[in-house]
Amino acid sequence: MPKPPRKAPFKAVLLDRDGTVIKEKPGVYLSDPAKVRLYKNTFAAFKLFKKAGYKIFIVSNQSGIGRGYFSAAQAAAVNARMAALLKKAAPIKAVYCCPHAPQEHCACRKPAPQMGLQIIAKYKIDPEKSFVIGDKKSDIDFGRALGMGTVLVLTANGRAQRAKYKRELRADKITRDLLGAAKYILQKEAGL
Ligand SMILES: [Mg+2]
Ligand SMILES: [Zn+2]
Repeated sequence: MPKPPRKAPFKAVLLDRDGTVIKEKPGVYLSDPAKVRLYKNTFAAFKLFKKAGYKIFIVSNQSGIGRGYFSAAQAAAVNARMAALLKKAAPIKAVYCCPHAPQEHCACRKPAPQMGLQIIAKYKIDPEKSFVIGDKKSDIDFGRALGMGTVLVLTANGRAQRAKYKRELRADKITRDLLGAAKYILQKEAGL
């Protein structure tokens, strides 16, 4: 008898950046690391993810690069600032960014699953034990395409997205913010 394939060992959370981990003013493209602000519960959520053994990834559409509003280096500086602010709560394993404008029709812009598939392969992530959290339907669709659990947060664009898509949103759960999402995930894992 051939051995069954070994299950991918790690569980992960794939987090949207703007409007989920750090504050976003809808319509404003953040490119200055000095302007990075965490939501007040982000730090606590990261601590919970770490304690529960989740690897943390950021998966972000940064079309401001493709639109020529800021450079990839500026986006990387914002990412570095975010990671520094969260360092004492939990490490960010990796940040994946799509730098393209929508009209470039790239293969990586969420909701396309490419960035998530790369993470699953490179870091040996089990999608069935993993979650995508974001404030837009494109985050939820991204998570569903990967076979992961999905949580919509009501920070930034979340409320407007919920009102716009209603049942079409198809998130497994809607929570007030990232900490609410972390608590939901831990409850689900505990079978509550
Ligand atoms: Mg967002
Ligand atoms: Zn792209």
